Amino acid sequence: MPKINNILIANRGEIALRIMRTCKELGRVTVAVFSEADRSAAHVRYADQAYPIGPAPAADSYLNAERILQVARKSGADAIHPGYGFLSEQASFAELCHQQGITFIGPSADSIRIMGDKIAARKLMQGHGVPVVPGTPDAIGSLAEARDAARAIGYPVLAKAAAGGGGKGMRKVDTEKDLSQFISLAQSEAQSAFGDGRIFIEKYLEEPRHIEFQVLADVHGHQVHLFERECSIQRRHQKIIEEAPACLMTPEIREAMGQAALRAAAACGYAGAGTVEFLVDRHRNFYFMEMNTRLQVEHPITEWITGLDLVAQQIRVAEGQSLAIVQDGISIRGHAVECRIYAEDAASGFVPDPGYMSLHLPPVGVGVRVDSAYWGPGEVPIHYDPMIAKVTTWGQDRAQATRRMIRALKDYRIAGVKTTLPYCLAVMESDAWQSGQLTTHFVRDHPNLMQLQRPARSAAAMAALYSRKDNVRSQPEPPGSDRWLTRRQY
Ligand code: ADP
Repeated sequence: MPKINNILIANRGEIALRIMRTCKELGRVTVAVFSEADRSAAHVRYADQAYPIGPAPAADSYLNAERILQVARKSGADAIHPGYGFLSEQASFAELCHQQGITFIGPSADSIRIMGDKIAARKLMQGHGVPVVPGTPDAIGSLAEARDAARAIGYPVLAKAAAGGGGKGMRKVDTEKDLSQFISLAQSEAQSAFGDGRIFIEKYLEEPRHIEFQVLADVHGHQVHLFERECSIQRRHQKIIEEAPACLMTPEIREAMGQAALRAAAACGYAGAGTVEFLVDRHRNFYFMEMNTRLQVEHPITEWITGLDLVAQQIRVAEGQSLAIVQDGISIRGHAVECRIYAEDAASGFVPDPGYMSLHLPPVGVGVRVDSAYWGPGEVPIHYDPMIAKVTTWGQDRAQATRRMIRALKDYRIAGVKTTLPYCLAVMESDAWQSGQLTTHFVRDHPNLMQLQRPARSAAAMAALYSRKDNVRSQPEPPGSDRWLTRRQY
């Protein structure tokens, strides 16, 4: 495989910028693509080249594989980095890239396909000695079959879509009388979201923790894991706060889970950066849940504790080079925490609040990293995920990482949209967080944290100060913005 010179980033927002930063450090040319809603977005201005790919809805732009491949050919891109979401886990897109002689920075289409089907993935894992949550081996064919399976497994159970993702196509069933209705609901949700209504049933684990392992593998059969991240704090089955390492971990469990993660990666012939997700019950039994065959949103906390750049590793593997690291050479340094800042109102159950963000001043300082898509005020579009930024902090230990996060969140200034800043701050300051009492029901179990709001004074005062015309005009231009002027014609 030849050296990659010119990388098209088939994504938007903070992850497009994050990938481009590494490309620039490695001396590679960056090509952005953008929808009409993102005409003046930061990723467009930061890239060496930028091309429009269609109207705002993702289906007409960031999911338009043909159009993106056209841009790749036109711009001379020899590789495509899909980021996360959008086309990143579409096996057919990886295949198309391959057919057109463009390197897909990610695993093979076959690895993506098998891990994208939760039923097939469970079977593969069982065949390789990776424990899975007890459940049906195949999609359920009839209600009678579902009833028998649920009785054998024991309620509560989870009706889950084989093609599920992003928390969609999943229904908890507490008693037999709800079974038929909830299976239908999961089925129709899965059918409309993924075009695949196959449902299987698995045991619903009470109060589990979500712990995932980062793996890296090359095409020569070398693989390592980069330890774990705990992602138990979720709303709507979607992560919002993560940390690395996990505080319940012992060396023995880490060893067992790390080895299971490596077996999972090897079983599907994995190459690149991937994440093996597990649920851990209160007795510290762990069960494979799924493998995400792409870069994960929360990858920066792994970068903090290992000192590695995961995007650089992905590019290295995509070029056919061997990993330059061995398991014994990687150790955990300190502790890292991530808080995702979404334009969402936690006090109203995390409803999205997109719109014009009139002020955006991220925190800086020792041990603080902010991955954001904004260099100042800007629009949080209604068309996409409303994430504004990921704040990550590093400390010698969990307490220091937490103190830094509290300081960073207090320093962060955003106006114009409601955000998850106050929620994340309330969590960081809570006893439950500080004592490490986490489960996937954390958000539901601590409703008071959703209501805690900071005194309005500082935010309002800062907004007034920074929204004054002269200050807005003095906002620094992002690097590369001069080149944007020459690109307007696209
Ligand atoms: P998706 O692919 O939609 O993200 P996952 O299978 O990764 O779905 O599950 C997302 C979340 O749903 C998990 O992090 C966990 O909180 C919850 N979950 C999934 N399976 C189970 C289970 N068997 N028991 C309890 N909670 C579960």
